[in-house]
Amino acid sequence: MPELPEVETTVRGLATVLEGQAIARVRVNRPDLRRPFPADLAQALTGARVTGMGRRAKYGLVHTDRDRTMVFHLGMSGRWRIDPADIGKHDHLVLETGNGHVLALNDARRFGSVDLVDTPLLEAWPAFAALGPEPLGAGLTAAHLAAAFRDRIAAVKLLLLDQRIVAGLGNIYVCEALNRSGLSPYRAARSLKPKEAMRLANEIRAVLEEAIAAGGSTLRDFRHEDGSLGYFQHTFRVYDREGEACPTPGCGGAIERQVQSGRSTFFCATCQT
Ligand SMILES: [Zn+2]
Repeated sequence: MPELPEVETTVRGLATVLEGQAIARVRVNRPDLRRPFPADLAQALTGARVTGMGRRAKYGLVHTDRDRTMVFHLGMSGRWRIDPADIGKHDHLVLETGNGHVLALNDARRFGSVDLVDTPLLEAWPAFAALGPEPLGAGLTAAHLAAAFRDRIAAVKLLLLDQRIVAGLGNIYVCEALNRSGLSPYRAARSLKPKEAMRLANEIRAVLEEAIAAGGSTLRDFRHEDGSLGYFQHTFRVYDREGEACPTPGCGGAIERQVQSGRSTFFCATCQT
């Protein structure tokens, strides 16, 4: 499943061919993904120029000069391909730019989505209205976390997965950030000291930035050779490493997997306290 770094690298890859370009042709090859494509999608995009690209949480944003933004979510299996060798049955939306590039949104399991939103109203769009700050933006600070955790006895891990507190964090990167911060996923959120909240904010940012940089360095223009965007090999410290040695220097503990509120939590009970 694409996490925030994959969405970010997808957006950067799409920007290399889409930004500043007109969309000359739009093909919608089926009525829906998770929900129907907007009825006017082809009409709204055909002839529009892409004025900018962005990301909010795990949504990609394609802004156009018609004050409408195409908002896409990759769901479980979605990916964009640039100039694919052929168009397959899972290429549900195909865009062609004025200078001849073809971009295909491929989603075999169809848990993704595509929406059109009036650009000035993006922040108020229902899926965005309640989101907390971006983890890579200026809003994720120790003070923000401290305020969000105040009086909360819930486990810190569960609050970090709450999109109203930090937008776009998934299970993998929460596990990684907690290990890097030396914090138990089970700690009551309100028990974090200011120094711990500071370290957590820094490690969340660092682990995401490292993953995005890894995507940029292993791919060319964020693309695989076949033109597909977004997915790349990661090395995780604790995620999916049950039974392995904890990578924290001098720790000597082992990574455990436990189920916490229905999700796998990977952590080291020796150095995460
Ligand atoms: Zn450890």
